[in-house]
Parts: sequence; structure tokens; C-alpha cells
Amino acid sequence: MRLVLLGPPGVGKGTQGRRLAAEMGWALISTGEMLREAVAKSTPLGRAAGRRMAAGELVEDDIMVGLVRDRSAEPDAARGFVLDGFPRTVPQADALEAMLAERAQRIDLAAYLGAPEVELVRRLSGRLECPVCKRAYHRTDARPRDGRHCDDHPGVELRQRADDAEETVRKRLDVYRVQTAPLVDYYRRDGRLREVSGLGAMDEVYRSLKQALECPDPDPTSSGGPSGASSGASSGASRQASPGR
Ligand SMILES: [Zn+2]
Repeated sequence: MRLVLLGPPGVGKGTQGRRLAAEMGWALISTGEMLREAVAKSTPLGRAAGRRMAAGELVEDDIMVGLVRDRSAEPDAARGFVLDGFPRTVPQADALEAMLAERAQRIDLAAYLGAPEVELVRRLSGRLECPVCKRAYHRTDARPRDGRHCDDHPGVELRQRADDAEETVRKRLDVYRVQTAPLVDYYRRDGRLREVSGLGAMDEVYRSLKQALECPDPDPTSSGGPSGASSGASSGASRQASPGR
């Protein structure tokens, strides 16, 4: 299965994608992680990308397409992959289709995780991390013991990632609404879209996601996956999942 994960920043795509890829034996291709790594290593690509990311802007298409082309050709992606963070625009989605077509491949499905914008702002702008061990915290959802410092590094004050500052978060959501939201229609048009609510407990969202992906089109190459025992194949099946708390 070659899957695109869609959804606004803060909806939990990264967490869900990692779990799904690990369980199904697919490669997780997280362009955000790949970019942050390039930034941390201060490669030429990383420096160029870093300036745009810190400003809440998207990195240029040719850089992104090149990253994904190379990564998706690696052996661990042979059985399938989950794309997280790419494509983000309709032109990128077209470029992805063209690139895969050269290998006689295509994106099988796109899963859309959704949540209201106020919740996304709350989740993102509250995120904190330890600059030493990179452990993730949240001002309200995952507080450190003393409220300010890493539990494992008592002298180290937690920090907010530059692109999680509230103003940047709002800008990321604006960019998402203009450039990425049209992808939902892009994959819906030819029946490849599956919609899942990103609200509720992490396990609940994960169950809905798997159900949405497995019902209509069980992947014969993914060994051991539960076969079509679950309910109806129509797109309505996933929408009733967890309307929130
Ligand atoms: Zn720490």
C-alpha cells in the first residue's frame, strides 16, 4: 500500500503514520523529519529549507520532490510507504503521480485526518521540548513535573520550537487552508480519499484510521492484516468515528 496522509498541522498525522507504518511493515516517509534532520546537520539544503520553515512557509517543490523520489526508492519502501508531509500542494501531488508512474506505481489511498482549528492551535502552540533530549511536553496535555523543566534534566528549561509559536502556527494553518486543503478534493475526485476524525484518544483515532483503510481495499501484499471482516466499504464508515470529547 502506498498511502498519503493528509490533515492540518497538529492533527496527529505523524504519530498515527509512524504507528501504522511500523505495524504494517511500510516505510514512513516524513518529509518534515527529513527536513529537520537536514537543518540540524546544516547541509546546504537544510540551511535553505530552515529559513522558510522558521517563517512558516513551504519549502520549494523541487527540493521536496527530490527528497521523496530518493527516499521512496529505498528497499524498505518496496512493500509500501506512508507519506507524511508530502504532497502539500496540488502541483506536488501531480509531480508525485508522475514520479510514481515512471515506476508503474501509484498512490493507492489518501487518508484525511481532520480536527477543528481552535483545537489545532491549542495543541500546537502548547508544545514544548527539552533542548537536550528532545523529549516532547505540552503546557496542558503533558506537563513536566515542575511546570518548566525537563523531568530528566532538572536544570534545563523547556523550549518551544520556532514553528510552534502561536503566530507561526496560525500562519501554518492559513498556508494549509489555501494550499493543502484542495488535496482533499484531489484524492476524493477519483475515489481514493478516506476521512477519519483526528479528535479523541490516540488509540481511537488509530482504530478508525485502520478501519477506513482496510474496509474497501484490503492490501493483498500486507501479510497478516485483518481481512474484510469489518463493516461496509462505503466512505461513510469512517466518518462516525469519535466526534470528540
Ligand atoms: Zn531532557
